[in-house]
Amino acid sequence: MRIGIDLGGTKIEGIAIDAHGLERARARVPTPAAQGYDAILTAIAGVIADLEATTGETGTIGIGSPGAISHKTGAIKNSNTACLNGRALREDLADRLNRPIRLENDANCLALSEARDGAGQGMRCVFAVILGTGVGGGLIIDGRLWPGRQGIAGEWGHNVLEADGPACYCGRRGCVETLLSGPGLAASYRALGGRTGYAAHEIAAHAADDPRARAALDLYCTRLGRALGTVVNIVDPDVIVLGGGLSAIADLYSKGREALAQAAFTDDLTTPIVCARHGAASGVRGAAHLWPPTAP
Ligand SMILES: [Zn+2]
Repeated sequence: MRIGIDLGGTKIEGIAIDAHGLERARARVPTPAAQGYDAILTAIAGVIADLEATTGETGTIGIGSPGAISHKTGAIKNSNTACLNGRALREDLADRLNRPIRLENDANCLALSEARDGAGQGMRCVFAVILGTGVGGGLIIDGRLWPGRQGIAGEWGHNVLEADGPACYCGRRGCVETLLSGPGLAASYRALGGRTGYAAHEIAAHAADDPRARAALDLYCTRLGRALGTVVNIVDPDVIVLGGGLSAIADLYSKGREALAQAAFTDDLTTPIVCARHGAASGVRGAAHLWPPTAP
């Protein structure tokens, strides 16, 4: 049995799957972010205990978390749950539970989940991206997460797309994340004279009746194509899987793909761009898949 935990800013979700990827149990608790780091460790341990009590089995444990995870120390950086930042979550949980823990960011979990039994199943090279509050990416080659030398493989969100673009927390300007995240789309809509307070899904919903929303969405698709073009030119994946809240926008798969066809160094782009199959469950499922299935 494999247990996956999705450590989110508002809730901690857990899933237990068998060797075939079939769900055996689920559990969920609110993230006690206000009570601090130790309370979060206790809550995660509680979800695991719950899943193991339900199934009557002990599982391997994988954890997915938003934010960047240091390859060297397992420490979390830039998490919205501030008390996690700088903490060696992997080591601390391993100590508490007395077994090894695997920890990856949410984009890598999405990529693994979709490559194993989702929209990228059967493909040798899968590039999966999260388009949401932030922008991340993960690369799967022959069914395995490709970490890269520094553990940053797939981190296209901090490629600079527009050198004079908005400042990014990472210290650069015009990173893909600043332009293709939900807040990035909302900011470019406002810059075009659009309403304040519209979130990404509202802008998409009003594209037919608000010319500024249409323009912001078209610009978004153009930028998406250019940003993915840099990835296609280097790894030329067999499929690109889109996840995260913005992946529900239909234009990404038509206009976004047309822009990619313009940007990539080929006059015959065949790369499919598809929506993630497991949606919001990609975090828990991918985390569970961080350990290979063991023979029953
Ligand atoms: Zn950046």
